[in-house]
Amino acid sequence: MMEHGQPDEEETAAERKMRFLFALRSRGVTDARVLTAMERVDRGQFVRGLFAERAYEDMPLPIACGQTISQPSVVGLMTQALNIQPRDTVLEVGTGSGYQAAILSHLCRRVYTVDRHRRLVREAQELFREMGLVNIVAMSADGSFGLPDTAPFDRIIVTAAAEDPPGPLLAQLKIGGIMVVPVGQSDTVQHLIKVTRLASGYDYEELRPVRFVPLVEGISSE
Ligand code: SAH
Repeated sequence: MMEHGQPDEEETAAERKMRFLFALRSRGVTDARVLTAMERVDRGQFVRGLFAERAYEDMPLPIACGQTISQPSVVGLMTQALNIQPRDTVLEVGTGSGYQAAILSHLCRRVYTVDRHRRLVREAQELFREMGLVNIVAMSADGSFGLPDTAPFDRIIVTAAAEDPPGPLLAQLKIGGIMVVPVGQSDTVQHLIKVTRLASGYDYEELRPVRFVPLVEGISSE
């Protein structure tokens, strides 16, 4: 049947993108700025090897150093919860593949992203350069201490699970600033927490259950 095409026919890039964005919307990513930023960043460039062909599915995938690139809908929901403003400076803890940082870079003035794996930072830096994302500063560091020399931040996003929101990160948030962080033991249910710094303290809101790799102390040798 000519008019229906073959079942194994290759999906075009445009169809793939439409399906990707539709899946995001159907899972609650509705903020137009976030969707536009996610439309501009090709997840396929952040996934290498065997899993590259699954880059447009809404699932986490393995990357180097035993880590994972997060599920796109979770990336979208976390980004949306941050309510990023164009002049913001954002800290990301857990560069991983660099995918989340690339999306943030389209929404704010400057992104600082840190990872304890040097190799991941190096590979992400290469991608940022190729993509012309010049407002991202990536470095290897133990992100649980934040970046004291660059703080305070308007927004902080932690993409590895902590047992509690790390104290140094809370301290490095501006008043009025927002942090999203998965909280819980790595082998049990974790919850995504949105922390807002008020003049008089912190407001905590539990958003949804999630599953992230753990926040680990110290810099890795890899
Ligand atoms: N945001 C990433 C996914 C991150 S996976 C993406 O878009 O692809 C979690 C990352 O957190 C891993 O790369 C891991 O190395 C890093 N990580 C874990 N503990 C850390 C710590 N204390 N400091 C910095 N990075 C850490």
